[in-house]
Amino acid sequence: MFRSHTCGELTLDQVGKKVTLAGWVQKNRDKGFMIWVDLRDRYGITQLIFDEERTPKSIMDIAKSLGREFVIQVSGDVIERESKNEKILTGEIEILVTDLKILNSALLPPFTIENKTDGGEDLRMKFRYLDIRRNPVKENLIFRHKVTMSVRNYLSEKSFVEIETPYLIKSTPEGARDFVVPSRMNEGEFYALPQSPQTFKQLLMVGGMDKYFQIVKCFRDEDLRADRQPEFTQIDCEMAFVDQEDVLNTFEGMIHHLLEEFHGVSVGKFPVMNYDDAMRRYGNDKPDIRFGMEFGELNEVSQHRDFNVFNNSELVIGIAVPGGNSYSRKEIDQLIDWVKRPQVGALGMVYVRCNDDGSFKSSVDKFFDQQDLAQWATKTGAEPGDLICVLSGEKDKVRAQLSALRMELAERNGMRKPNEFAPLWVVDFPLLEWDEETQRYHAMHHPFTSPKHDQIDLLATDPASVKANAYDLVLNGNEIGGGSIRIHDSETQSMMFDYLGFTPEEAESQFGFLMNAFKYGAPPHGGIAFGLDRLVAILGGQETIRDFIAFPKNNSGRDIMIDAPSPIDEDQLDELHIKLKS
Ligand code: ASP
Repeated sequence: MFRSHTCGELTLDQVGKKVTLAGWVQKNRDKGFMIWVDLRDRYGITQLIFDEERTPKSIMDIAKSLGREFVIQVSGDVIERESKNEKILTGEIEILVTDLKILNSALLPPFTIENKTDGGEDLRMKFRYLDIRRNPVKENLIFRHKVTMSVRNYLSEKSFVEIETPYLIKSTPEGARDFVVPSRMNEGEFYALPQSPQTFKQLLMVGGMDKYFQIVKCFRDEDLRADRQPEFTQIDCEMAFVDQEDVLNTFEGMIHHLLEEFHGVSVGKFPVMNYDDAMRRYGNDKPDIRFGMEFGELNEVSQHRDFNVFNNSELVIGIAVPGGNSYSRKEIDQLIDWVKRPQVGALGMVYVRCNDDGSFKSSVDKFFDQQDLAQWATKTGAEPGDLICVLSGEKDKVRAQLSALRMELAERNGMRKPNEFAPLWVVDFPLLEWDEETQRYHAMHHPFTSPKHDQIDLLATDPASVKANAYDLVLNGNEIGGGSIRIHDSETQSMMFDYLGFTPEEAESQFGFLMNAFKYGAPPHGGIAFGLDRLVAILGGQETIRDFIAFPKNNSGRDIMIDAPSPIDEDQLDELHIKLKS
């Protein structure tokens, strides 16, 4: 037997017992005649004591040679400690060691294996297996496991069946580039790694598996943005014989269950907001509604004077920053610089101080009088003591800019509280989105999403205005899930491909299998997929998904521990029929 107990469980109840433990040396304090060692495993830390009088000399000698992170096995007696440590469960006892075996020595770790380490991100990633020994990382991984188990159990109880779908497939166009895998046996042909199991889960519906889910890896070869991973995990779900309401109810239930289980909070019925309102009120399709600062539209009350910046703008909008009148001139100037950074891209910012006596002082006092400014205050909901920040410009751009400012100010002012949860359904997304680069419409969600039935005719005349039966679940300003009711007949599906610019031949060669399946009795169906990494991070009160992934890739998509991607040798390339451009 390697160990009778773990390092996290012995208490006064076991005093007098003989035990065997195994683990890593966290710390070694050598006082000459007495040595204390903190022994660590996944479960906790137990103090070992060796002393000249009671420990055999040979064991004493081995104890003196222990270095940090050595792997050892010890046997001994559980005794009561003289100076107790109330912070840990095992803090009242120690093990008087009678036998000690070094199972493996260890090099000095390149960073300290402590809750707060001196190791930088790169070093920790290169030695991720050491990082995983640290409590915060270890606990995040265990937390992820618990969330995953809870999801599995919940869905399984609701009659969902977890079914695996293949990883070597043909590409599904979902907005990102595919990772491709060359086929050795089929010269010049490639598999693609799935961006999601979308078409397969739809085929499972045709196959009669009316409630499917899968906790599944998905792969997207995107230009990397902060906190995105090229491979990530989805809770992928699909249901047959449902309408949008049914899907929303089912998965609202799942999120309720998770919030209850992991935070003991009951958030009530999730609010539903349509896409157009979300854009108008928050400039964003994933608004954080834990705090106010809703947009006030100011065109009517700001374009009647000689201020050409506003007069020439498609949209003038503002937000009221609570307590913002206390900002110094310098702080406001910094805010203006912040919105002018290329990442935000505003040309400038107009501001209004709302004084406690009800008067206003603005950066455009030359053009606007107190009455004008009072109207801006009404439209933005500003109170005395607030600061109104106003941006103007082209509608979509200025909304995105003000949304960025709103989130930044909320972050700075501590309004994004990690332990407060505000879920929100955003529904009625546009079906299509114009792509400047290709000068074409693209499916906003994916090409299998059903347009709203009464709007199909509009596709011919005003495609941009057509809404889809598509929805996102937003939690605290993060999109954690998205899905749609699908097209389930082959005519509508081929019409859709046509609108998206596929020739009938292209549609047939890429999606013939799906359209064909729809001819054999496809039930109405719809579904959703949640990003597990992000969901776990948010439930864990953090927003960095990397902290919840055992072996994540860095911001350039590299695994710096195993050094991937990496070149492959000539023979392998030959076998795969690949010639590199030198
Ligand atoms: N396949 C979609 C996605 O990955 C989700 C869905 O429509 O169910 O975003």
